[in-house]
Amino acid sequence: MTGSATGPRAAAPGGPPRGPAGELLSVDPVSGETIAVLPTDDEEAVRTKVARAREAAPWWEGLGHGGRRRALLAWRRVMARRLDEVIDLLQRENGKVRADAVVELAAALEHVGWAAGHASRVLGRRRVFSGLLMLNQASTVEYRPYGVVGVIGPWNYPVHTPIGSIAYALAAGNTVVFKPSEYTPACGKWLVDTFAEAVPGPPVLQLAVGTGETGAALCRAGVDKVAFTGSPATGARILAACAPTLTPVLMELGGKDALVVAEDADVNAAVEAALWAGCSNAGQSCAGIERVYVADAVHDRFLARLTERAREIRAGEDYGPVTMPGQLDVILRHVEQALADGGRAVVGGPESVQPPYVRGPVVLADVPEESAAVREETFGPVLVVNRVRDAAEGVERANRSEYGLGGAVFAGRGAVRLARTLRTGMVSVNDVLTFPAVGALPFGGRGKSGYGRIHGADGLREFAAPQAVARRLFRAPLAIQTYARGKRDVPRLERLIKRIALR
Ligand code: NAD
Repeated sequence: MTGSATGPRAAAPGGPPRGPAGELLSVDPVSGETIAVLPTDDEEAVRTKVARAREAAPWWEGLGHGGRRRALLAWRRVMARRLDEVIDLLQRENGKVRADAVVELAAALEHVGWAAGHASRVLGRRRVFSGLLMLNQASTVEYRPYGVVGVIGPWNYPVHTPIGSIAYALAAGNTVVFKPSEYTPACGKWLVDTFAEAVPGPPVLQLAVGTGETGAALCRAGVDKVAFTGSPATGARILAACAPTLTPVLMELGGKDALVVAEDADVNAAVEAALWAGCSNAGQSCAGIERVYVADAVHDRFLARLTERAREIRAGEDYGPVTMPGQLDVILRHVEQALADGGRAVVGGPESVQPPYVRGPVVLADVPEESAAVREETFGPVLVVNRVRDAAEGVERANRSEYGLGGAVFAGRGAVRLARTLRTGMVSVNDVLTFPAVGALPFGGRGKSGYGRIHGADGLREFAAPQAVARRLFRAPLAIQTYARGKRDVPRLERLIKRIALR
């Protein structure tokens, strides 16, 4: 299928094209034009970068929260000044339409600001109550950087997604070696170059270019934590690579997010939301909507309106091409299998898959729950719309997925109560995909969607190890944890713990 596509990227389904000396060629997914040529990093080069990052770590940590805040805000200013460059790159290297590029960058810049502005409050040293038994102690906790964090990113949001790890890891005081996707190395380089412009000096943020081999080398190079965003299959390989050294890993994996439409929902608003969350970025969003469960009472109205609106959405104008050629095969397989399993193609169908585009949204209805289009990540502008008795059944079906990343509910009364019954890391209520752009909200999934969090206070703590300090203020009246204790101290403690517990 992808062999019929034009352009070098489409002609190389096994990975991105290479230069004569093995360099990565970054190419436009539509025209096939080479945008950038980047030398790759082998095992030794990656180790050298990690060693340099380790040398830079004390300097960066030593800047303190105030110094790092200033540095990160300077980075954000450089990025904002050079925004046109990265909008252009996102369009050419990633195939995004301008609106999708701008939406991505708005969220990315918000997170740099949030991480910079809140690290001191979230991670800085604070007093905690020592408890009745330990009243003679002054207890404090603070969150210390791990040291060097390896960040491995995907291609679908090549700026926003890695920034969710990079900005938070840096704000927490770590240095970072970042391996962008082999499909978007130029966007990755832009991030590292803009940081170097804002923060000249020791290499606090470095780039490692290459395919999965470079990523695997990064996992083995002695980093103190790996922050991975990508597919569950690669996530499992990364876990295995990190197991021998017990290196902790953050896993931001795929999704199969559902939107549940209740009988008292604003149907037109739900249609617009489903369409945008299903098709923006050509459906290549980990937390994009792929399934819609609509309560029987409003199902026909929803599907009729969705059909009308989906026919007005244009590939190439409203959303871009499918960035990775191999994904078109997945999309086609899901659509064909859904029809073979008894589903109906309401808008588009297998013929919509025309490399490098899916030409117009595909809306499938009444697809059996066992079908791949309902169970597996499709990652294309394809919406499955299934009828359910009511919103509760919609949630029950949504929760059958092995994934548990995000989701949305459209409802009138009890909308938040309904949202809380979704077994996912994030939910939007009467809107879609709002949570990734809220600095304070943690982002991450459950089940096959991974574990750990980027964004918000949890995202900062993800990149820092708590350090507890208990400092003796005075000799305890009941000194038990010493051989110098008195004879009566142990029975007194026994009486005391009973009194405390039986209060
Ligand atoms: P992928 O798993 O193919 O690749 C991700 C990254 O891992 C790339 O940089 C790749 O080079 C690297 N890699 C591959 N093999 C490796 C190995 N053995 N060791 C170390 N690194 C290795 O994923 P992708 O196709 O780039 O991204 C799409 C996937 O990412 C989708 O499943 C999507 O849902 C998911 N995603 C998740 C989030 C999230 O925050 N949860 C965000 C964006 C994308």
